[in-house]
Amino acid sequence: MIIILKPNAEQSDIDAVCDLICTLRYQPRVSKGEHDIVISCIGNGVSPHAMEVLRSLPMVDRVVPIQKKYKLVSREFHPEDTIITVGGEKIGGGNIPIIAGPCAIESYGQFRQAVKDLVDCGIKIIRAMPFKPRTSPYDFQGLKLDGIRIMRDVKEEFGISYISEVPGLMQIKMLNDICDIFQIGARNAQNFDLLENIAQYGKPVLLKRGMAETIEEWLTAAEYLVSCGSPNVILCERGIRTFETATRNTLDLSAVVVAKSMTHLPVIVDPSHAAGKVKMVPALARAALAVGADGLLVETHPDPVHAFSDAAQQIPSAGFQSFIDAVKPWLDLAKSLPR
Ligand code: PEP
Ligand code: MN
Repeated sequence: MIIILKPNAEQSDIDAVCDLICTLRYQPRVSKGEHDIVISCIGNGVSPHAMEVLRSLPMVDRVVPIQKKYKLVSREFHPEDTIITVGGEKIGGGNIPIIAGPCAIESYGQFRQAVKDLVDCGIKIIRAMPFKPRTSPYDFQGLKLDGIRIMRDVKEEFGISYISEVPGLMQIKMLNDICDIFQIGARNAQNFDLLENIAQYGKPVLLKRGMAETIEEWLTAAEYLVSCGSPNVILCERGIRTFETATRNTLDLSAVVVAKSMTHLPVIVDPSHAAGKVKMVPALARAALAVGADGLLVETHPDPVHAFSDAAQQIPSAGFQSFIDAVKPWLDLAKSLPR
């Protein structure tokens, strides 16, 4: 359940309500919005007794029972869009960045060239993947520690921010010093042990939607992150598995619309892993922006034909400006959409 305080509530009122919530064996979480102060009660279900006690307090405007499995990520708890800042770049609330980079770090030369091309186009957050969780154990698994060394050198030269996928518990600490956003991949979307552990670092986390995950399950996975200490979660729709084989995955743009109505967290779209084919990426990116996506995550490589992974879907990095130009009118449109 959530408690909305009267507009003139003061800090002493918030403290008094929180104390009572603890006495009732819930954990209080306070959200101070532009218009409302909302306190969420984290704990076991909705108790009619607790609701009655809380409603009787003079500073309480209303108590709303929320039966949902997620609370902290819900719009009811926090009506305004959450804006996440990473290295000076904002995501959410009308700020719509393009995040880009190669599928994987393959060598110093390959990664540096990709970053240089992207920096020339004004890209500030770079995909930097030293670990590659792959469906087949025989496929390229990433350069691992060598990849992290490359990330250090390239960051020193260009001063960019990194998003890096964390495949398991062992890699959290290794990546924490160098990356600015942790990525949870589609294959780990409901690895709750990983989510709980990663959340303790308090760093922004990009949570991909699982291949067969409902929107509610996706938001509930995000609730693990937020409730365990990581408020800055970015959701990423990357296509789901359906009967269709013409695309790598089926990009579920309705999920962007639905998720954005249910949560205050930014929802971005990865058209690359959805399409699986480079030619489709600009059209899917435009469609994502048209439905209100808060950003794009795009794969690009200096020499896609020879890429070690996902060769068919990576945009040549030397031509990344043409991709930006192709989506620019939709980007401007997305910035003017009502929120
Ligand atoms: C990725 O973004 O590098 C990736 C592997 O994507 P996904 O987890 O969506 O398959
Ligand atoms: Mn990839």
